[in-house]
Amino acid sequence: MSRHHSIVIAGGGAAGLTVAARLLLADPALDVAIVEPSEHHYYQPIWTLVGAGVVDRAGSRKAEADFIPRGAKWIKDRVTAFDPAKNEVSLGSGEKVGYDHLIVALGMKLDWKHVEGLDGNVGKDGICSNYSWETVESTWKFLKDFRGGNAVFTFPSPPLKCAGAPQKIMYLADDHLRRIGVRNKSRVIYGSMQGAIFGVAKYRETLEKVIARKEIETHFQHELVAVKTKSREAIFRSAVDQKELSVKYDLLHVVPRHAAPEALAEGGLLGADGYVEVDPHSLQHKRHPNVFSLGDVASVPTARTGAAVRKQAPVLVHNLLAARRGEVGGAKYDGYSSCPLTTGYGKLVLAEFDYDSQPAESFPFDQSQERASMWMLKLHVLPEMYWHGMLRGRA
Ligand code: FAD
Repeated sequence: MSRHHSIVIAGGGAAGLTVAARLLLADPALDVAIVEPSEHHYYQPIWTLVGAGVVDRAGSRKAEADFIPRGAKWIKDRVTAFDPAKNEVSLGSGEKVGYDHLIVALGMKLDWKHVEGLDGNVGKDGICSNYSWETVESTWKFLKDFRGGNAVFTFPSPPLKCAGAPQKIMYLADDHLRRIGVRNKSRVIYGSMQGAIFGVAKYRETLEKVIARKEIETHFQHELVAVKTKSREAIFRSAVDQKELSVKYDLLHVVPRHAAPEALAEGGLLGADGYVEVDPHSLQHKRHPNVFSLGDVASVPTARTGAAVRKQAPVLVHNLLAARRGEVGGAKYDGYSSCPLTTGYGKLVLAEFDYDSQPAESFPFDQSQERASMWMLKLHVLPEMYWHGMLRGRA
């Protein structure tokens, strides 16, 4: 069995829905199909605040059906394989779907198995993670009951979704422990594969002061490689000399390694870094000109965020519609991404930057300062903008 659509979008997450909405706003007559197996769509950026007990998990999930734009065909199945030579994708049902243009927006897969002893233990005995719907509530559960000891936070080998998220929850946890009066009998420890706390110098300077003020112990260029649940030990390995470091934990917030979904393993769409090999400015595939990609699965050298998707979508739509007319679009994505770094309850540094790691700020004040107004933006304004603006193709 097979069918055909002019434009097939693989993945109906933040990127797939946004780009579908924009395409159909530009031309309501377009024949667009979205392949997405999930009944729900998740606003993942709010999971930092779920883990910190600020908002409920329930508000981060809405029915996928409510965000499939009018005029788009929803194929409720998963892509199992890509065949760009034949211009078709295979579905879980066995059906094949042909296309004139393909947009790959599958996001990233979480690889819990990469850390020995982790798979199946997140959510149990002090091990938690903000990185999935299933595990995000465990963070607040363990933080709420923490009465002193070691609170350990990890950052894996990149790339990962929102590279700021592993440290945001750490600052909130530190603040919480101070508020309940147990910080003086606790250690807050950060084991990160990065060489420094943040890539962009302007924000790094602020964050280094935050780390010093909060007396957080850091182990850079260290990756979590094993968890010994019986003895409650987190084992890190140094990227410099391969030596192992064992850290006792009472709370362990883990961020797993990420990878492109398996469906992309064959088909030749991936580049050497394991992600969809697009031109970082046009978002068009380097070897298959009728294929485009955006969001977390696209090989673009910037931070993987919803904020980046918001800026990528109009560029991709412009260039794809031009390609359909046989023209070169010429729209360019500059690598814009943003990271709302919660440095405590009611405080946030809004980092915004481009491919050159240069600040690309939206507000007429110094965004490297911790601000209550930016916290309010994350808590109240950005979710509304996401649900009602970005996913509808309007913001
Ligand atoms: P997703 O939104 O993950 O969507 C991928 C979609 O593809 C999913 O719907 C999935 O079901 C579907 N899919 C997967 N495999 C298949 C398949 N084989 N066939 C068909 N469909 C498939 N971003 C920010 O801008 N600001 C933040 O503060 C922020 N904080 C974050 C905090 C956390 C804890 C996390 C986890 C993420 C955060 N992000 C943040 C990142 C943001 O959520 C992602 O960058 C964004 O969701 C990327 O959109 P995407 O469409 O590429 O991927």
